[in-house]
Amino acid sequence: MYDVRSPRAEDFINDARIQEVLAYAEANKSNAPLIEEILDKASLMKGITHQEALVLLDCDIPELNERIYDLARRIKNEFYGNRIVMFAPLYLSNYCINGCEYCPYHAKNKNIRRVKLTQEQIREEVIALQDMGHKRLALEAGEHPTMNPIEYIIESINTIYGIHHKNGDIRRVNVNIAATTEEEYKMLKDAGIGTYILFQETYNKTSYERLHPTGPKSDYAYHTEAMDRAMHAGIDDVGLGVLFGLNNYRYDFCGIIMHAEHLEASIGVGPHTISVPRVRPADDIDPETFKNGLSDDIFAKIVACIRIAVPYTGMIVSTRESISSRKRVLELGISQISGGSRTSVGGYAEEEAEEDNSAQFDVIDNRTLDEVVRWLMELGYVPSFCTACYRAGRTGDRFMELLKSKQIVNCCHPNALMTLQEYLIDYATPETRRIGEQLITKELDTITNLRVRESCEGFLSRIAEGERDFRF
Ligand code: SF4
Ligand code: SF4
Repeated sequence: MYDVRSPRAEDFINDARIQEVLAYAEANKSNAPLIEEILDKASLMKGITHQEALVLLDCDIPELNERIYDLARRIKNEFYGNRIVMFAPLYLSNYCINGCEYCPYHAKNKNIRRVKLTQEQIREEVIALQDMGHKRLALEAGEHPTMNPIEYIIESINTIYGIHHKNGDIRRVNVNIAATTEEEYKMLKDAGIGTYILFQETYNKTSYERLHPTGPKSDYAYHTEAMDRAMHAGIDDVGLGVLFGLNNYRYDFCGIIMHAEHLEASIGVGPHTISVPRVRPADDIDPETFKNGLSDDIFAKIVACIRIAVPYTGMIVSTRESISSRKRVLELGISQISGGSRTSVGGYAEEEAEEDNSAQFDVIDNRTLDEVVRWLMELGYVPSFCTACYRAGRTGDRFMELLKSKQIVNCCHPNALMTLQEYLIDYATPETRRIGEQLITKELDTITNLRVRESCEGFLSRIAEGERDFRF
């Protein structure tokens, strides 16, 4: 039976409940009074339920769809302004014992080159990433008890935090590794990780079991309850995600909002981020896997409706998306993007030959970080390399309180400008630097708190003179 507070996956992601909600939303997709009522509630910017969110997703009335997109833009602007946080994925190892049907790292794939980085190779990767200007990483590794045990992950995190090359340092390491035990989550917490990220892939148990026929990941309940274990182990910030296109998108949309509601109801803190990857062709993957692939229009509507349903949760899009798709979803709710990404193991220090492919998926947006930063600024966004909250202990409920009270803006905006200034001085091309300096001057005027603005101006001058790492 559906129970949002239950620790059991089959209760908080209850299939019967989802079927009921899918039927309800289908029956009400043209119900203008109901959709208007939901939009009125959503305009308070405190979120809506999974059932209400699915009605908005299904809405087929063009004028009301415009209102949905307008509201998503307003919420994005209210909580996240024009800032976009930058990060890069770092693949440590593609050894994996699982059989995920959509991922080329699956154990039976003999075509792919298997690589596990040594600590020295990680050093080379991190220096290459620091030389691009990155400050925030998402670590990725396949699941393998002997090749990638937790000790290897912890050692790698310590290596990464310990590298300070020129003015570069990685200030926040988020981790995307397989579901594990509470004890191992405690080890990750003690190693100082930022967000623990784990994609559900699909919330539909039947599809999940079909797509994960072998390996520990085939246990749906263990995987779905992982975030509860991570949070009980003391990890404050967790990142959800589904791989849209694996299964019916309406089902997975409903599931991810229910998962967010469950964490809020049972642990007291909702997810820190939601990622919205879409399936992409890859080596040794049956094209049948992509038959549920979704259009750019539906993808944009999913982003808008997640933004409305969970206004306090950051949203992430990767380089799996094309430039035009990224541009569209940025204004509808995305608050973090990757830039200059390599999805092969060891791909930053050395470009991989095509026939030697160790990548998880093909990147569509192949631009350098400098090009992405410039593009964002030309669109009116402020690229941010901020990592302040985690380092100031503003995580979990402390972070959510600040966000809900909208006080966070007094931190985010000046931090974005200061970290952008560091980037421009240390890494940008002359043209990007010129555009960025003009942008910083303009954006300083938008800081309404006079004391914060004066401090920020002072810090910017000190950054120009060579000091680094100020934060609010
Ligand atoms: Fe392994 Fe993750 Fe790929 Fe599955 S998705 S095969 S667990 S790397
Ligand atoms: Fe994120 Fe906190 Fe920095 Fe704002 S101040 S951008 S919430 S880390």
